[in-house]
Amino acid sequence: MRRFFVEHPIKEEQVALKGKEHKHLSRVLRIKKGDSVILFDGSGKDFIGKVIKITENSSTIRIEKIAESNTESPLDLTLIMGIIKGKTMEEIIRHVTELGVRSILPIFTERSIPKWGKEEQKKRVKRWQIIAKEAAKQCGRTKPPEIFTILSFSKAISIKEDGIHLIFWEEETKGLKKILESVKYDNMISIAIGPEGGFSKEEIEDAEKKGWIPVSLGKRILRAETAAITAAALIQHIFGDLGE
Ligand code: SAM
Repeated sequence: MRRFFVEHPIKEEQVALKGKEHKHLSRVLRIKKGDSVILFDGSGKDFIGKVIKITENSSTIRIEKIAESNTESPLDLTLIMGIIKGKTMEEIIRHVTELGVRSILPIFTERSIPKWGKEEQKKRVKRWQIIAKEAAKQCGRTKPPEIFTILSFSKAISIKEDGIHLIFWEEETKGLKKILESVKYDNMISIAIGPEGGFSKEEIEDAEKKGWIPVSLGKRILRAETAAITAAALIQHIFGDLGE
């Protein structure tokens, strides 16, 4: 059954899809009156219903059943991602959404190449939120990951969050496997991945002082996007639900 995202919390029995979601339903997928679809609003529930009306500007769905989703990982995984130039951030957001990451915090680090003003930052975050919703819709998640506004590296590592904090550094000798064997299971994990140029030694030292554990992904240097996707997948496999 096809899934459609509704921007507001679904409370009514009949929901009218408009704009992009309506076009996708009626023109791209050519769904007809009487067909069943799933709506989701980011609350963690699936709203299963039937299309009862399609006009030029909207498609109306009558909700028939509400189901709790089982596509969310039990692991509360946050990705803190050094901003990369081009469209690579979009690629990362798409993939880590599929991997069940719950929150994404984009950060400017010492070696981040893009230098965006406030307006551009807002525009980017908005675009990434749309991408997260699209990816959630495609992979069957009912809650798109939360994408936070961009912070500086120092602010991000100073946030007092519970759980395990891992900072991925290609110069570290202790591997993820060893580190995860030595820590107690926790359902909250934050992972930090650097931009193209990586984290500086000073950034790693600052993070360590704040309780972050430097971790290696092995002997080869991975591109930032490969590192983010690999780290999310490995952790989701060990502590979450990937591969179950
Ligand atoms: N500093 C490097 C350079 O310019 O040669 C490479 C940085 S790497 C492309 C980008 C990010 O991916 C790093 O900051 C780190 O978080 C992660 N990363 C890549 N390879 C890694 C590895 N083998 N172990 C741990 N982290 C890695």
